[in-house]
Amino acid sequence: MIKTTPPSQQHILDVDLHLTDANWQHERPSALVVACSDGRLQQNLDDFLHNALGIIDYDRLYTPGGGGALAISGSELLRSDAYRHECQFLLKAHQITDIYFMFHGPSEDGPDESLCADYRRKFPNATAHQVRTQQQIDARELQSVDWGMPVRIHAYRCEVRHDGRVQFVRLL
Ligand SMILES: [Zn+2]
Repeated sequence: MIKTTPPSQQHILDVDLHLTDANWQHERPSALVVACSDGRLQQNLDDFLHNALGIIDYDRLYTPGGGGALAISGSELLRSDAYRHECQFLLKAHQITDIYFMFHGPSEDGPDESLCADYRRKFPNATAHQVRTQQQIDARELQSVDWGMPVRIHAYRCEVRHDGRVQFVRLL
């Protein structure tokens, strides 16, 4: 007797499969990039990492605020602590040697709507200039954290200019 799959399970077995061109990579990247979830800047971030820093492969920790999520920023103790633990796990489990903390927002003459929504949430009354200063403070705070193992800390801010172009400024 031929067994037939019940109609309710057919959609599970009928897999729509896509085979990628590249094989998986055996070697782990040595860099971890901590960046904001904001999808508007992902292509610019990849461009910067690839073409300015020579980083092609990297581990990712994408979360609202990017590096800012790991900074106390005044009152975010529980949240920053939770993300720091996630970060420490990656450093150890993936043998990371370099962390790149990314922040973002408008340049001095950039559009307000490019301000990081997470910083807007944390500092609802702050000007874009004040947020920039806070991000600098947060970057320094991350530099002083004991990450539990030797690791090089880098920090950059991705800035949207008045003409819509995107630039990266070194914070640390
Ligand atoms: Zn953001």
